[in-house]
Amino acid sequence: MPKMRAVQVPRAGGPLEIVERDIPDPGPGYVRIKVQACGVCHSDTVTKDGLFPGIQYPRVPGHEVIGVIDAASAGVPRWKTGQRVGVGWNGGYCGYCDNCRRGNFFACQTSTEVTGISRDGGYAEYMLAPISALALVPDDLSSIEAAPLMCAGVTTFNCLRNSGAAPGELVAVVGIGGLGHLGIQFAAKMGCKVAAIARGKDEEPLARQLGAHYYIDNKTQDPAAELQKLGGAKVILATVTSAEAMKAVLPGLAVKGRLMVIGAVPSLEVNTIQLLLQNQSVTGWYSGTSIDSEDTLNFSVLSGVRPMNESFPFERAAEAYDHMLSGKARFRVVLNIAN
Ligand SMILES: [Zn+2]
Ligand SMILES: [Zn+2]
Repeated sequence: MPKMRAVQVPRAGGPLEIVERDIPDPGPGYVRIKVQACGVCHSDTVTKDGLFPGIQYPRVPGHEVIGVIDAASAGVPRWKTGQRVGVGWNGGYCGYCDNCRRGNFFACQTSTEVTGISRDGGYAEYMLAPISALALVPDDLSSIEAAPLMCAGVTTFNCLRNSGAAPGELVAVVGIGGLGHLGIQFAAKMGCKVAAIARGKDEEPLARQLGAHYYIDNKTQDPAAELQKLGGAKVILATVTSAEAMKAVLPGLAVKGRLMVIGAVPSLEVNTIQLLLQNQSVTGWYSGTSIDSEDTLNFSVLSGVRPMNESFPFERAAEAYDHMLSGKARFRVVLNIAN
């Protein structure tokens, strides 16, 4: 049996360890991917720390996967060996449950597969994926560049394009981290007026370099008041995991504005009087399915949006993970597996 190297979590809370495993064979409807790069995402803590009920261990994390199809089960339509593909958080959907039949593939009721959580992910030389999870990767992106677009990228791009913000309207992006540095770029390239909101003055040059037209320092300025001076934000993209920061910026919404939440917080206090008088809303956003990821990759090529990455060799996966957790990464951490 041919072998591969994989980085696995042996048990909830256990260390990331490099092991040798059999190279898996794809079952019906599946392909095998020879992995080239895999992003290290904060959500990998779900696998590492057992934050999802029912995770079976050992488990290989990683849901920002780019690689080349090297085997496909018989009868797989459309996809073939040699194609470079990406796999994100959404690990596929059935196509026949009620949610799928209504086009809400992200909420598939029968196949709640999450890459790297309910099935082995991309911290490995090979992985399996169902064809519904595959996004075709355009030639103009390197695998290292493309990897973070499969989670941080699709989350911000897909959220913004469904937010209702039209070209010329004001979009505020709260936080300039792994999600925010992409959100600013996407919003600017979509033709919106972009206000970046972060703590301190240090981030301003970078925010402007990424395409922000305005910069608001929420350490010394009231972000909501500053947004109202600009006419109010049609959309506020909340990438931070601070309920306080979200609450502070919420009164900066324009009439019919939407706070789009992509940073998870356990609870958020909102002034419902403001919401009803101004016809505003607070919306949570998932990332996207494979076609959304493919759109994200293609839009990035078209517009020049790129993630800023620090790449680590596969052997240093544990170090890469710690670096991501430290919050010091600028901005996405990617494992270079076979690139
Ligand atoms: Zn992620
Ligand atoms: Zn379904």
